Amino acid sequence: MDKTIPAIIYRFGEGVYINLTNRCPNLCVFCIKTKWNMNFHGNNLNLVGHEPNSGEVVLALEKELSKAPFKEVVFCGYGEPTMRLDVLLFVAQTLKGWRAQAKYPPFAIRLNTNGLGNLINHKDIVPDLAAVVDAVNISLNAQDASTWKKLVRPAQEFENGYEDVVEFIRQCVRQGIKRVVVSCVDKTGADPQAVEKIAHACGAQFYLRSFLDEEH
Ligand code: SF4
Repeated sequence: MDKTIPAIIYRFGEGVYINLTNRCPNLCVFCIKTKWNMNFHGNNLNLVGHEPNSGEVVLALEKELSKAPFKEVVFCGYGEPTMRLDVLLFVAQTLKGWRAQAKYPPFAIRLNTNGLGNLINHKDIVPDLAAVVDAVNISLNAQDASTWKKLVRPAQEFENGYEDVVEFIRQCVRQGIKRVVVSCVDKTGADPQAVEKIAHACGAQFYLRSFLDEEH
């Protein structure tokens, strides 16, 4: 992989990551994309305005997946993947098909998200997600709406979105997504224990994240 050209696909740990977009309605105080100059562990994730279409993503995946073992494929990027819902669903469905054909050794399909996908897409996207992904990691990051707004700094259109994110978590669990994990970034002024309680009340798992981990 040439790490200088913008990466649609990159590897981290045992995962293969898909970078669909650099757009995001939030501007989290802990977001590393600007701090790290759109670089992630040697990968240039700056798509410079060209968001890959489904065909480009599928081609890039086919090239990458046969190169080395992997345990999961993750929609992540340096942006919010549900901003590209159509591409996300098409690619996830393609991955599911490959898995059914045992084209590669068994792997999981995961989405990392800020949980605003229903508001972004003006509809309930959870049923479509539940049909194609095994796991969803949702960055909640705050125990209440005012802390969330302060830390996540959503665009005006989304500034009342905290309860929608919590409801998104609940729906992911209710609609049968196998692994739903709520995260909170450490040392931001939020109360991780309170966030953990909310996660468990929703039926989700909890993960305390260092801001140097993967994005979201
Ligand atoms: S951390 Fe994730 S949700 Fe927050 S601004 Fe960065 S890309 Fe968006």
